[in-house]
Amino acid sequence: MILPIVAYGDAVLKKKAKEIDKDYPKLNELIDNMYETMYGAYGVGLAAPQIGLPIRLFLVDTSPFADDEDLSEAESEQMKTFKKTFINAQILEEEGDEWAFNEGCLSIPDVREDVFRKPKIKIQYQDENFDTHVEEYDGLIARVIQHEYDHIDGILFTDKLSSFKKRLIKGKLTNISKGKIKIDYRMRFPAMSKKR
Ligand SMILES: [Zn+2]
Repeated sequence: MILPIVAYGDAVLKKKAKEIDKDYPKLNELIDNMYETMYGAYGVGLAAPQIGLPIRLFLVDTSPFADDEDLSEAESEQMKTFKKTFINAQILEEEGDEWAFNEGCLSIPDVREDVFRKPKIKIQYQDENFDTHVEEYDGLIARVIQHEYDHIDGILFTDKLSSFKKRLIKGKLTNISKGKIKIDYRMRFPAMSKKR
């Protein structure tokens, strides 16, 4: 089932998400629905807060990036098959000189900006069976993971922009939060949702 993606301006996107355990209700169904939602919106990552749940869960599938001409054959091959569910993730280390990449976000449609991040990460997480893994990533895969990981800490890529850039896109962000935007996937706008 495709779930509506929460738009910029909703408080759930600003929350530090909570850990879950294997008793979390209907977790497998939730994960399946999140993949369907991500593919339906042509995303390469989706975090639970983006569908309204403040829990430490996100998915990544970098296959749409595999055709990028700037990638080496080895990188392209890795991107083609990289699909992973991250539960209770903790980034243990980030290192290297920050590099810029033009990021976008399903919760912030039509806004793309260069974001600086470190190129290498070491991350601990649990998979769908709650087995713990510690893995290292670099390049674009690390970049996608960092972006999704920020979501479970309540951080958006727009938070990382200079105050000048933030001023430039302020009008666009306000329009998104009011639903004044054309999109071809299901979204939920804060102005339309009921007061909690
Ligand atoms: Zn995002």
